[in-house]
Amino acid sequence: MSDHEFERALGYANSALDLLKRSGIPPYPQFYELLYTYATGVNPALNSRINAIFASGRAPTATLAETLYEEFLRSDVNDRMSIVSERMHVRIQDVHDAIDTAMATANAYSGSLQSAQGDLERVIGPEDLRKLASRLLSETRRMQDTNRTLEQKLEASREDIAALQRDLDDVRRESMLDPLTKIANRKSFDDGLRDAIADARQTGNPLCLVLVDIDHFKSFNDRFGHQTGDQVLRLVAMTLKSNIKGRDIAARYGGEEFVAILPSTDLNGACIVAENVRQAIHAKELLKRSTNEKLGRITASFGIALFHAEDSAGSLIERADRCLYAAKNAGRNRIVTEETYEEVLERIRSGVSAA
Ligand code: GH3
Ligand code: MG
Ligand code: MG
Repeated sequence: MSDHEFERALGYANSALDLLKRSGIPPYPQFYELLYTYATGVNPALNSRINAIFASGRAPTATLAETLYEEFLRSDVNDRMSIVSERMHVRIQDVHDAIDTAMATANAYSGSLQSAQGDLERVIGPEDLRKLASRLLSETRRMQDTNRTLEQKLEASREDIAALQRDLDDVRRESMLDPLTKIANRKSFDDGLRDAIADARQTGNPLCLVLVDIDHFKSFNDRFGHQTGDQVLRLVAMTLKSNIKGRDIAARYGGEEFVAILPSTDLNGACIVAENVRQAIHAKELLKRSTNEKLGRITASFGIALFHAEDSAGSLIERADRCLYAAKNAGRNRIVTEETYEEVLERIRSGVSAA
């Protein structure tokens, strides 16, 4: 980065920070990015929208900033994938064209060499020999020119393809993540569970699946709004992720349900992980970011199943789901495993609430 570029970027950064301060928008990275982009002016549609908000005299809120971020800056993985793939296609076509030209020139050159050989096999005079040498020289130069062009094109393509490769890696990594919570999405969960099951079969090591579902989340959303609900989903995702380790996978299973794959872990171990997560979620006093309003606490219920030799991914998930359902029925904010399942059902039937 040159000094000039550095100064310019610093100018944008200062201007973004000023705007954040003046408008009272929380200086979270995505809002900073939003106003940094505004300061650069590279996105006219975004700028005219923000200008209109400033002109209206309304103070922009964090919610509005989030909406703008979603609309203008969060790019869809599929869009990015198709841009990268289109650029890759153009580059590959360029390389093909350059190789075709080089091959055509090489063929013509080889033809010239053959005809020169024929000429040389006949007895020719000094004048013909001079003409022949001059023809071969110019053909050779043409060949050299084509080779140089090919080299340049390949060099340019090499750099571009390396950049595309990096973009592709980023997109691939992102396509494995849930955009809201940034933990593994359903697709990577499916892949991860398939691999974990294959591994458990091969090694005979235990494997546990923990399903987590936030309690009464619908009413939380109804009371405090979907955006605050989204913050809670991020919090639960991070709590789950920070309580697992090594080859474990934490994923968003869908909506307000999460899942952890715990290889080399028996039911006891899985219960300890789930209990840590349960307590950590319950212990957190929730605050609304924009207003610091206290939102109380949330809880979550857990269902845990242990892999058996005859299990498929589907049957393992189904058993964990049945345990989760029992945990809900037994009063929520608790863990039910396939070992405690029958006992919990019995207690529900007899109307005794499990503590
Ligand atoms: P239970 O304790 O039985 O699980 O009750 P619940 O309200 O959590 O369950 P229910 O399945 O009735 O509702 C799930 C709610 O989760 C409905 C929906 O509003 C909310 N939800 C699902 N996905 C999202 C999301 O991406 N963001 C937000 N904010 N809410 C979501
Ligand atoms: Mg649910
Ligand atoms: Mg729920």
